[in-house]
Amino acid sequence: ATPTALLVGTGRGAQLGILIKGPEVLESTRRVDTVVLDKTGTVTTGTMSLLAVHPAAGVAEDDVLRLAGAVEDASEHPVGRAVARAAGRRAGRLPAVGGFAALQGMGVRGTVEGHDVLVGRPALLESSGITLPDELADAARTAVEAGRTAVVAAWDGAARAVLVVADEVKPTSAEAIAALRGLGLRPVLLTGDNRAAAAAVAAAVGIDADAVHAEVLPADKLDAVKRLQDDGRVVAMIGDGVNDAAALAQADLGLAMGTGTDVAIEAADLTLVRGDLLAAADAIRLSRRTLATIK
Ligand code: ADP
Ligand code: MG
Repeated sequence: ATPTALLVGTGRGAQLGILIKGPEVLESTRRVDTVVLDKTGTVTTGTMSLLAVHPAAGVAEDDVLRLAGAVEDASEHPVGRAVARAAGRRAGRLPAVGGFAALQGMGVRGTVEGHDVLVGRPALLESSGITLPDELADAARTAVEAGRTAVVAAWDGAARAVLVVADEVKPTSAEAIAALRGLGLRPVLLTGDNRAAAAAVAAAVGIDADAVHAEVLPADKLDAVKRLQDDGRVVAMIGDGVNDAAALAQADLGLAMGTGTDVAIEAADLTLVRGDLLAAADAIRLSRRTLATIK
């Protein structure tokens, strides 16, 4: 039978906005010494906005927004939402997309108005044999150096524009990360985004520069957690995305943002209902206290 204190602990968790899959989950909170945080949607709001469009010479910005926006309209990724929202505001109704494909951690592709359109990180374009003209490479570099995310729109085999997006650090993230440190956990940032954007967020919330893992593909997030475990760390992972699910399941303790995807929530042991990182520190403090009353 489950000790009453554990059930009381789970009940108190619900009051704090923490959903616990089962009382046995609490046990893993005792030994966790590392907390791996996904960036987009976990440390940051995940609501990105489109800040700038840099079209290549001879390309109309309206065409970029209409074609890229139409493909991104089918995407659930924060970058895609930002592009589709801005494009919708500009174009009104976006054209239909055919053959849509989401390339996890890379970008999207689809056919719009007869064009084969690709939107994603520069590496995606390179792997499709598309090179960036200097003007676009410069625009992307400047944006990235400023801590932003730059994606490229290409169609019919040529790069047509750089789109710059960014989101904001959640107001409570720095305080939450300090609280997790106070509980003896070392914070690590894990993201598919570029190094400079990751470094800017890490600096803003108090994560050490040598604990930042950027440009990590979705499949490699799982390996990053495994590697820490192989080094003897007991790992809590906090994430929100489809691309975090495997890492959440692998971690000794998986915490999902309640504002995130169902896949992440299903893979996790705990859900932070309000999507507030402060609840992660509350959850660990509460379950340790609950366990202490049982001993
Ligand atoms: P994170 O780990 O921060 O949640 P992801 O692994 O989901 O990031 O994505 C990594 C990168 O892939 C993004 O920063 C972006 O450059 C690119 N990307 C992913 N999805 C899209 C999309 N729908 N449109 C354009 N670029 C995308
Ligand atoms: Mg995320």
